[in-house]
Amino acid sequence: MPTLKEQFWDPIAGFGVTFRTMFKKVVTEQYPFDKKPTAPRFHGRHQLNRWPDGLEKCIGCELCAWACPADAIYVEGASNSDADGERYSPGERYGRVYQINYLRCILCGLCIEACPTRALTMTNEYELADNNRADLIYEKSDLLAPLLPGMEQPPHAMLLGDDEGDYYRGSFGSRQQSGDTHDRHESEG
Ligand code: SF4
Ligand code: SF4
Repeated sequence: MPTLKEQFWDPIAGFGVTFRTMFKKVVTEQYPFDKKPTAPRFHGRHQLNRWPDGLEKCIGCELCAWACPADAIYVEGASNSDADGERYSPGERYGRVYQINYLRCILCGLCIEACPTRALTMTNEYELADNNRADLIYEKSDLLAPLLPGMEQPPHAMLLGDDEGDYYRGSFGSRQQSGDTHDRHESEG
């Protein structure tokens, strides 16, 4: 024969957690309608940065690809040529093909540590899902930073210095037209 407690109290007690939770603050996030900002140094999608005149910082050296533990980066370098009007970066070489495979990438950030020109940085963007595999291989055009005011779409000549040394040293002198733009751009990366 069940006791009075077992008959009347125990069935109600089972809902104790439910009733208590009903009056607590809701912690559910309404993603994707309400997106919470990430931590400032969150490792999200990569970005290929530009110099303040629009030239690309990537020199096609492949150090990022060699540093990647997941073999997620593919780079093919090519030579700049002022004679042919084919200059995409200061110096000799640029990244002609640049791909990151987000099916493999673990967002560890080793590639951005390896990059000698700070061409490669990471944004806070974390929406890297899709319904097919091909679209998760990001091409250079998907990764390049947008052109900001004062930048020109490459190919074009070096507008900020006589040679790549002026760019790498940051000694743009009087030709620097948008230094604050450059800083803002870097901080986005
Ligand atoms: S974040 Fe890590 S895994 Fe992703 S491409 Fe860079 S080195 Fe490779
Ligand atoms: S992103 Fe950096 S490390 Fe990778 S190829 Fe370009 S310059 Fe080299």
